[in-house]
Amino acid sequence: MHNVTLNNGVQMPILGFGVYQIPPEQTEQAVTEALAAGYRLLDTAAAYGNEEAVGRAIKNSGIARKELFVTTKLWIQDAPAQENTRRAFETSLNKLGLDHLDLYLMHQPYGDVYGQWRAMEAVNREGLAQAIGVANFHPDRLLDLILNNEVTPAVNQIETHPFFQRTADQQLMREHGVQHQSWGGFAEGKNNLFTHPVLSEIGAAHGKSAAQVVLRWLVQRDIVTIPKSVRPERMAQNLDVFDFELTHDQMARIATLDTGTTLFFDHRDPEMVAWLSKRRLDN
Ligand code: NAP
Repeated sequence: MHNVTLNNGVQMPILGFGVYQIPPEQTEQAVTEALAAGYRLLDTAAAYGNEEAVGRAIKNSGIARKELFVTTKLWIQDAPAQENTRRAFETSLNKLGLDHLDLYLMHQPYGDVYGQWRAMEAVNREGLAQAIGVANFHPDRLLDLILNNEVTPAVNQIETHPFFQRTADQQLMREHGVQHQSWGGFAEGKNNLFTHPVLSEIGAAHGKSAAQVVLRWLVQRDIVTIPKSVRPERMAQNLDVFDFELTHDQMARIATLDTGTTLFFDHRDPEMVAWLSKRRLDN
């Protein structure tokens, strides 16, 4: 597995396994199968409701903790944000059955972002989270967070797939040492991604699927990706992207698929701010 080096020196696998929308009762089996397939980066969130199942799969795998890279995410907290963030962090750690996280992300750019970030800086300083980062931050919010705080986020996890490529966002993140991580790398299959003619044709030239072309395209852009699947054959297929290389022309063809807009939701849309901000989790 190829690693990227985060801005504090921490090594992170460039390809991992995401567990969003895997029901808690299926998650232990899915993560067990993913670990058996060779995944070492696991991406969950308090909001996914499946941290305990992820933790059970980790424990039962017998894989040494230092071999794994575990990410979970903080949901929006009520005031006082610093206190509540610490409690939410400890709850996640307990549910996962771990004594530290590799990466702790702020899931949404809402609420008392600064109070939440200061509490995350503290768990990072104490070594309880090896790295801290954010998700769903547009460049303006990201830059504001960077310029007005001590710790620069190690990662920004944002919607990134062939139909929403985020090249300008990636450029800004590069300039500030923030690792770009893709969520929804397959756009959850929207726009017929898995049978898309351009992606399928490029895949055929390499004996690979459209899905593998997408993952390879992300890897070649130095973007960390976390495909989700509950099917072992797809888990294996999604890991098998390190034995071929897309040509400059193939990368350029994929670049033409960019629509420049989200296929899911815009975090700057007031309705989305209101909808996500209504949700609270028990810490
Ligand atoms: P995704 O990875 O883009 O797509 C998952 C879908 O693709 C599933 O329906 C899966 O079906 C299918 N699939 C997987 N591999 C395939 C293959 N080789 N061929 C055909 N179909 C395939 O979607 P996602 O789960 O939304 O995103 C990935 C991860 O990003 C999440 O699990 C989560 O960890 C993270 N995420 C983060 C945020 C955030 O706000 N930070 C938001 C969304 C997601 P099967 O399972 O049936 O195979």
